[in-house]
Amino acid sequence: MTRRRWIADSWDESTASLTGEQASHLIRVLRAQTGTEYDIVAGDRVWHGIIAGISGDSVRFNLVAEVQADPALPITLLLSIFKFDRLEWAIEKGTELGVERIVPIIARRSEKHLAQSAQNRVERWRRIARESAKQSRRSDIPAIDDVLQLKAAARATSGATRLLLAEQERSMTLRRAIDEAVKSAGEEMPSIHLAVGPEGGWAAEEEALFDAEGWKSVSLGPRILRAETAAITATAVVAALLE
Ligand code: SAM
Repeated sequence: MTRRRWIADSWDESTASLTGEQASHLIRVLRAQTGTEYDIVAGDRVWHGIIAGISGDSVRFNLVAEVQADPALPITLLLSIFKFDRLEWAIEKGTELGVERIVPIIARRSEKHLAQSAQNRVERWRRIARESAKQSRRSDIPAIDDVLQLKAAARATSGATRLLLAEQERSMTLRRAIDEAVKSAGEEMPSIHLAVGPEGGWAAEEEALFDAEGWKSVSLGPRILRAETAAITATAVVAALLE
């Protein structure tokens, strides 16, 4: 039986509580009663929970038994700032597909007014990731970082395989790059960072910077995809090749 899933606002080893929007939805919309059973995400674990009490705008659960949890995939998406409605679509879908982190970056061709107001949207993007994690029955919520300048993001060191989605790339495909990463990771699952350009594409000096910092340019094929399509296509391909 698939129980509806909630993300705990507070918890300890045997109980968990919901407050705010989630609790009021449970109380006022779903008219939940003491004894009703749900799944509760507490930290990065999932529990079978039973409502033990409802008071005011708070719902308390007893945690009965731990439920099998599917960990996030070691995929980090670097999303250049582009039109917010489509960027938020990419955050929602990336969460459904299992990414563990999303880093919004300001690229040279990110529209100025969007770049200036992006940091004010980050809390909204975290809410979108949380709702999408709940809807896709994840046992965790991907981290949404604060907005970063491209230079800092390109230079951030990590042991991951770092791939630059580049529409002009003709020799290396994403699939081949992932196959190589899986082979060289042996038993481990390789950690993959994917950088997606803005609608205007990467500027030549940005591609040169990524190259100098050890990123590998990869192609998603001959057609030019919208930024959000490229982000989700690449994530789906990597997820399919890792799982
Ligand atoms: N303005 C660019 C142009 O017209 O050539 C298109 C940029 S595209 C709309 C936005 C981003 O999506 C690109 O910077 C790249 O990161 C990614 N992208 C789109 N199509 C791609 C492809 N076929 N292969 C790799 N990346 C692609």
